[in-house]
Amino acid sequence: PPTLMWFRSDLRVHDNRALAAAAHRGPVIAVYLRALPHWQRHGHGANQLDFRARGVAALETALRGLGIPLLHRDIDDFDEAPESLLTIARETGAGRVHFNREYPVDELARDAAVIDVFQAAGLEAQGHHDAVAFAPGELLTGKGDYYGVFTPFARAWHRQLSAERLALADTPPPQASIGIESDPLPALPTLADSPIDGRQWPAGEEAAADRLERFLRFRARYYANQRDFPAIRGTSELSPYLALGMISWRQCLQAVLAENDGSLAEGDAGLTAWVNELVWREFYRHVAVGFPRVCRHRAFQRHTEELAWRDDDAGFRAWCEGRTGYPIVDAAMRQLVATGWMHNRLRMITAMFLSKHLLIDWRRGEAFFLRHLVDGEFCANNGGWQWAASTGTDAAPYFRIFNPTTQSKRFDPDGTFLAEWLPELAELPAKARHAPPRDLLGGSGYPSPIVDHKAARLRALEAFKALKAD
Ligand code: FAD
Repeated sequence: PPTLMWFRSDLRVHDNRALAAAAHRGPVIAVYLRALPHWQRHGHGANQLDFRARGVAALETALRGLGIPLLHRDIDDFDEAPESLLTIARETGAGRVHFNREYPVDELARDAAVIDVFQAAGLEAQGHHDAVAFAPGELLTGKGDYYGVFTPFARAWHRQLSAERLALADTPPPQASIGIESDPLPALPTLADSPIDGRQWPAGEEAAADRLERFLRFRARYYANQRDFPAIRGTSELSPYLALGMISWRQCLQAVLAENDGSLAEGDAGLTAWVNELVWREFYRHVAVGFPRVCRHRAFQRHTEELAWRDDDAGFRAWCEGRTGYPIVDAAMRQLVATGWMHNRLRMITAMFLSKHLLIDWRRGEAFFLRHLVDGEFCANNGGWQWAASTGTDAAPYFRIFNPTTQSKRFDPDGTFLAEWLPELAELPAKARHAPPRDLLGGSGYPSPIVDHKAARLRALEAFKALKAD
């Protein structure tokens, strides 16, 4: 009997473990369950839903080239996934379903329910670890706990990584027709908020491979020096593709090995720094499984749950709309809203500004990011936010609060990024853009700072000092 391959956030035919395993068993029928209402309820916005839909269309084309039909079904909620898949199995005579595992709590529960329902029906369901080198639980501290700190996790990751874990999975060979037609792809979703111009993020495996190649050819070797400067395209901009699995981490690391004499940890400083970021990506997935409270809107550092966050809707709106009067924060937020992406340095600056200077609950910022980011991914987003808010793993000590103006001078020294996103400031001398004096602003409409850095910093320190340690 044929095998169902259930695609989720692994929208590719190359190096896809579940797909390769399914194809080894005989003919494959691909399935995609689109759960728009579910995704919207969970805070995914138009940008990623649009990118996802285009990614599914690219996947359908790639599957067609292999003779694999794609059945496309709409569901309201992932609670319906087990029954929906079982119905498809019955209709097609499939004997089993394969999928690649996802790690946040709800996804784990959803997949466990699929396995139960299939087993109860006398069918097989098999989850594969594909998105990570080590299944959560495989890398533990000497005491047998999940790592709550990155550096020892990364050390263990490098030490135990084997050629086998890095090996690319086979691409399925073209299969003979099994008499099942692909479903027509539905029209792109119509959503309340309209997506950004998708041309900036062409979807699919070919686009992802092309980005990886260009990054390695032109930027990777300068990555260590250039990755912190938002005015320079110094990073790979592969995050949306990694988030939806249009490229695999193994494909990325195999490309590094080929460029770096077979090493991931030594050799070229740019390439090894880049590998480190992919290890962060994996680390936060292990954290989601080891400390599932983070998937339930809870802080990793329990004692910080008592923190007295401020109710400040006006401050929150100013942050969202890029009107805080701190140019680096405002330019970054405008980049996010206009492009669906924000540079990592700026994610750190804006997240810290919201959670420390405005003392607004980091969860509001986390949700805003998820709604706008094309690369919105629960584990990395939650990890990044909790880091900035000093509630998470490797928490930035609460007293180390970025001064946005200093950050701006350091990481956008010529004010180029500021000028790009804040036309109001573009005519000012470069040096004046970081903290524009009122008399130079004239009638530009650019606001005064909504908080004073020193006073806001003291207010945050007081709030954190009031907490009792765990
Ligand atoms: P590169 O520098 O080229 O890095 C390569 C890849 O490594 C990235 O594509 C990404 O998959 C991974 N990566 C890099 N940095 C991190 C990190 N700190 N944590 C986890 N993985 C990382 N990344 C997301 O993919 N989705 C998110 O929703 C997300 N939200 C974030 C929120 C905050 C507050 C912060 C501080 C960071 C967040 N990040 C998130 C991590 C990081 O900012 C982005 O992955 C990165 O900016 C993407 O650009 P790039 O692909 O050019 O990265």
